[in-house]
Amino acid sequence: MTPVAVRKVSQDHLDAGRALARRLFESLAEATATPPGVTRVAYGDGEAYAFDLMAQHAARHGVERRFDAAGNQYLVQPGGDRSRIVLIGSHLDSVPHGGNFDGAAGVIMGLALQASLHAAGRTPPFDLGVVCLRAEESCWFPYSYIGSRTALGRLDAAALDTVKRSDTGRSLAAHMADLGFDPDAVRTGARLYEPAEIVAYIEPHIEQAPTLVAQEVSVGLVTGIRGSFRFRAIKIDGAYAHSGAMPRALRQDAGLAAARFVVSLHDMWDCFEAAGEDLTVTFGEIATNPEAHGFSKVPGEMHLCLDVRSQSAETLRRAEAEVRRRSAAIAAETGCVFDLGQCTTSAPAPLSEPLHALMADAATLAGIRAMTLPSGAGHDAAVYAEAGIPAAMLFIRNRNGSHNPDEAMDMADFDAALAVLDAMLSDPRIAELPRPRLSPSNP
Ligand SMILES: [Zn+2]
Repeated sequence: MTPVAVRKVSQDHLDAGRALARRLFESLAEATATPPGVTRVAYGDGEAYAFDLMAQHAARHGVERRFDAAGNQYLVQPGGDRSRIVLIGSHLDSVPHGGNFDGAAGVIMGLALQASLHAAGRTPPFDLGVVCLRAEESCWFPYSYIGSRTALGRLDAAALDTVKRSDTGRSLAAHMADLGFDPDAVRTGARLYEPAEIVAYIEPHIEQAPTLVAQEVSVGLVTGIRGSFRFRAIKIDGAYAHSGAMPRALRQDAGLAAARFVVSLHDMWDCFEAAGEDLTVTFGEIATNPEAHGFSKVPGEMHLCLDVRSQSAETLRRAEAEVRRRSAAIAAETGCVFDLGQCTTSAPAPLSEPLHALMADAATLAGIRAMTLPSGAGHDAAVYAEAGIPAAMLFIRNRNGSHNPDEAMDMADFDAALAVLDAMLSDPRIAELPRPRLSPSNP
């Protein structure tokens, strides 16, 4: 890519988008309120309301409304080159009693940008599509990334019938058909846009952790989405014994083994971190067996679950080997038996480096202080990246975490991210992005 041209960027034309965004957040919060917080059920009422609201407002700035077979919605502003499209968006469902910004911020930012371009009489270089994805929150359908997978023809066909909505017990296919969409076409991998037509997928999203808050930065430029390995059902067997009578040397204390295991893996984390590697280590559950434990007993049994994440597949591979080595060593030291159980994995999704560079330059041009960081949570952008489509994520500062009613995003931070996105899409180098390289599952 050619180096960035220094130019002064005016942001006055963004007023129309900023005003629209405020109205949309307000309407959405009001109409989908289920105190505390909001509830937008995937393929349900709240999501349907959000889809219609976005379409109604987009109609005022002259977009075409399209749906794919699974019901993902595209609000397309015609561009100079109509053979390719830049997609901006996210999901519109929420967890029960969730916050107003998770997902919606990405869609609303896309619309704000379209409204700004329209008000300024500017035509985007390519078609500019705001994509409203379905069913991202796996609390409704226990399956990851239904919207983006169906959009790209990458959903395992069996999931349409086997995956059931948690509140109705009815299948994903049945819920799609209810809304007039076409599960049979989804089964065959039908898609509205071929990966080669998609210049970029850009997902603005609130940060779901306090990094930006702690660093006092409005906007985060995401490098990649962490992959993981999980041991969801680790069991450590020792031997129950009398707390007073059993000599220390003869104990097989499962509680001690579990504690050493936790500390040992945090030591492992220290080592990786010292070597500059991206890693998180979390024991979400650590428990004795309540039916057998007691205050005067040496614990004979422990249950743990372990979640390890990294942006690097190689780091994950070495960390998993290290988990196995350390558990074996602690088993030998404590006389306990470790059963790590099944290991499930998800691959890290690196986001596009050229897009990241464009975002970083755009932040400089727009005068917005931004920092680079990974995403610990999963997002639809991972599926686009996996399909070989250049994908980028912009995080917006948010207090009080996410998936709760207290999510708090300041509109000033939303505006800052909008200015970055606007500068990014006005950069002529966006046309120089490499075309998607098609992966085998992307025929
Ligand atoms: Zn989300």
